[in-house]
Amino acid sequence: MHTGHAIITAANLNAPQTGVVDTLFFPDAKLPCRNFRKPGGCRRAQCDYSHEPTNLTRFLDYLASATRTLDICVFTITNDDIADVVLELHRRGVSVRIITDNDQAVTQAVTANNENVVVLSDPAVIRSFQGQFNKLWEMFR
Ligand SMILES: [Zn+2]
Repeated sequence: MHTGHAIITAANLNAPQTGVVDTLFFPDAKLPCRNFRKPGGCRRAQCDYSHEPTNLTRFLDYLASATRTLDICVFTITNDDIADVVLELHRRGVSVRIITDNDQAVTQAVTANNENVVVLSDPAVIRSFQGQFNKLWEMFR
């Protein structure tokens, strides 16, 4: 089991509150159904994937809400749904910066590891994380 943390600053997060906006804990019991989230929904008679919101789908929605910048510092990204959202943001013109160590072994944070996400809107805390990210970005560039 691998544990880690991510710093994701998504500017323009639609979060009017100040402080902790949300906490997401993994693992999820089930992976979300990819078809269910698409227009038309899932047509499988017997679908083993979740048709209810999961922590992953909530996380994906937060990610997708970025309109200007997305900075990610993680051990590795092994989840295709997360990678798809990041690529889509990049295509939309969002400035995406990722610091990762993809040489490491494959992890399964969403369903196998104990991970958590804290969604913040406190400007001072975000500035602190942003400053640390910028230092790492320069260090590993
Ligand atoms: Zn389904």
